Amino acid sequence: MDMHTAEASLDRTAWAPGQVGNWAGNVSFCATSVHRPTSMEELGAVVAGHDRVKVVGRGYSFSTVADTAGALVRLDGMPKVVEVDAGRRQVRVAAGTTFTELGPYLHRQGFALPNLGSLPHVSVAGACATGTHGSGRGNPSIAAGVREVELVISDGKPIRLDRSSPGFGGSVTSLGALGIATHLTLDLVPAYDVEQYVWEGLGWPELVRDFDAITDCAYSVSVFTDWGGRHTVWVKRRVQDPLPDLSSTGAYPADGPRHPVAGMTVESCNAQQGAAGPWWERLPHLRADRLPGAGGELHSEYFVPLDRAREALEAVRGLRDVIGPVLRGSELRTQASEETWLSPGHGRDSLAIHFTWRADADGVGRVIPALELALAPFAPRPHWGGLFAMKPEQLAASYPRWEDFQALRAALDPAGVFRNAFTTRHFG
Ligand SMILES: Cc1cc2nc3c(=O)[nH]c(=O)nc-3n(C[C@H](O)[C@H](O)[C@H](O)COP(=O)(O)OP(=O)(O)OC[C@H]3O[C@@H](n4cnc5c(N)ncnc54)[C@H](O)[C@@H]3O)c2cc1C
Repeated sequence: MDMHTAEASLDRTAWAPGQVGNWAGNVSFCATSVHRPTSMEELGAVVAGHDRVKVVGRGYSFSTVADTAGALVRLDGMPKVVEVDAGRRQVRVAAGTTFTELGPYLHRQGFALPNLGSLPHVSVAGACATGTHGSGRGNPSIAAGVREVELVISDGKPIRLDRSSPGFGGSVTSLGALGIATHLTLDLVPAYDVEQYVWEGLGWPELVRDFDAITDCAYSVSVFTDWGGRHTVWVKRRVQDPLPDLSSTGAYPADGPRHPVAGMTVESCNAQQGAAGPWWERLPHLRADRLPGAGGELHSEYFVPLDRAREALEAVRGLRDVIGPVLRGSELRTQASEETWLSPGHGRDSLAIHFTWRADADGVGRVIPALELALAPFAPRPHWGGLFAMKPEQLAASYPRWEDFQALRAALDPAGVFRNAFTTRHFG
């Protein structure tokens, strides 16, 4: 397999107990040992030999979801596997593979994934485990495209679940709480090219009034806002689709390339202004061949029902003076309903309201409860990889398959080998 390999966040990190952390630098892992198995046998032995194990992807989550007080496993030493089955339109991929590696390879084979998040440097398994998503009215999370997952469970043995298996719906977006995914098989679509256009100058009344038309105008649309007066729309059109025109909203095309976060350099962004490029290079905002900075920011995101988008937007805008001092910018995206049990998009078309915060953990910690209170009428679901303060009972109440996931966890990991403080706090 000939894949472009990008440097990972973890490779810049000192891998000694107590010194390992996430990309953002707000989480120092409590691992007592770090393991980098190079075969299924070694991986199985690590799992079977420890009573507490957690796998980390590329360390891009902001929550403590990947932390452990036991053995931490990274998969970047495992054999690289990318097996495209053109007839079945699927790819079986090693779990630690990043989208920077996978995207160009699939494109060369004439295939694509339906969607990607804004950062391609994350691992496929890490992204799926937290419900990572991009945007688009017709696009669910990446995990929704997984048709088979291979897990090493607590006895160190491999199991395989596919869409016909009981419990499959809980096995992909599972926060690493069921076992270690070693391979995932994902649906493919034919390769496609995308053009990216940035429109700016959109006013708040027009954003709210024309919200449906704006977010539905192309395959993938992101609105960037500081909740003040003017807003920017990033439109990602598949080249075969009609060319969107947002001029009736009062927005106008940007006269040059932009970065989604104010003050950041545009060199780290993918080409805009209608330059066509492969899906893997246009759906993410950030370039695959550049490392995404050195942390210096924190993220939160909440998913609310799309049919209450306008009310939820007004509720957050009402808090702009409260969140403003710690906010670098917000992104609004849409997500299609899906079956994945713990996906924040489970069972409802959603508006995802994303917050890029300043690297001020205390300040952010102070505003998050106010934000969650404002969003409470909309049964918000937080991104598992972001910062949030919601109580376990609030989470349980908003996920209809919560108890099913608990039962699956009890069945696959009866001794709680894969629990960590995060899963204990939220799932008991
Ligand atoms: C700059 C930036 C931009 C981002 N943009 C987006 C975005 O556009 N959309 C979005 O939804 N999110 C976004 N995120 C969040 C990010 O996609 C998620 O946090 C994702 O989970 C990170 O992937 P990772 O490989 O770093 O996983 P990690 O953060 O290392 O781990 C996340 C979880 O996955 C589990 N896990 C990892 N590997 C496995 C495995 N093999 N088997 C089982 N469980 C596993 C871990 O145990 C942990 O619970 C962004 C993050 C950053 C830093």
